Amino acid sequence: MELRQLAKNVYAILTELGDPRGDSNFGLIIGNNGVALIDADIRRWVETRRFIESVTEQPVRYLINTHDNFDHTSANTLLARQGAVIISSKACRSIMSMTGREEFKEKMSQDVKLWGKYEVAELSVPDLTTDGQLCLNLGESNLEISFLGHAHTPGDMVVYLPGEEILFAGDVLFNGCHPVTRSANTSNWVNVLAKLKQKSIKLTVPGHGDPSIGKSNLDNLQNYFEVFRARVGELKASGLSVEEVEESFALPEFESWGKKNWLPVSIKKIYSELV
Ligand SMILES: [Zn+2]
Repeated sequence: MELRQLAKNVYAILTELGDPRGDSNFGLIIGNNGVALIDADIRRWVETRRFIESVTEQPVRYLINTHDNFDHTSANTLLARQGAVIISSKACRSIMSMTGREEFKEKMSQDVKLWGKYEVAELSVPDLTTDGQLCLNLGESNLEISFLGHAHTPGDMVVYLPGEEILFAGDVLFNGCHPVTRSANTSNWVNVLAKLKQKSIKLTVPGHGDPSIGKSNLDNLQNYFEVFRARVGELKASGLSVEEVEESFALPEFESWGKKNWLPVSIKKIYSELV
């Protein structure tokens, strides 16, 4: 893992793609009015906490959940115990309240070591939600926390720093690997990417993969979905079943991208979305 400074008070905590202990990226913004952390994974908490303590003595005052997945929210209870306010979209909170708690218990009970170490039986769900935009003023940095619609999950939030022109995109953005579409709406995901491109952006930090300069990463993922959807659409229109599409489907333009195991999930998802 790596702590990378992006601007005066802004850091990314980066993990290596494919790390079996979880490979999500996190954001850290330090203001004189408090510290905000973007996402936290209990499996990476020891390193994450060490990075935080290496740059500030303040506790984390706000924890932003970009979406409900375990690798982005599983340290919620640890942060809530130390007094952090947890922020998410309304949709994210309702998913966590309905199925997230059970999923959390199940995943934690499978990992005896983790369970014993933290004694966390319950997942803390967000305290503060929005289905639009929240502005968080930390004194030196302002954060615009926005829900732009269903993309990777029904409750995705992105965090944009207008002063620094940095975008923490959560899993609305993947870099160098196939995106996870299990709970996605890929048609709307393209719209969300298009909306994000209207912002002035110097740096993007994806949920998984390396940060990139400017908007190239947003362009790449938008292009990926457009190509993917058109190709599945052609095959479906020619009368093929979803199994037949899976057999004949190829995406040579994105051959270098990792996590190919997610491809069949996306083929099924896109096939079902296309009328
Ligand atoms: Zn993720």
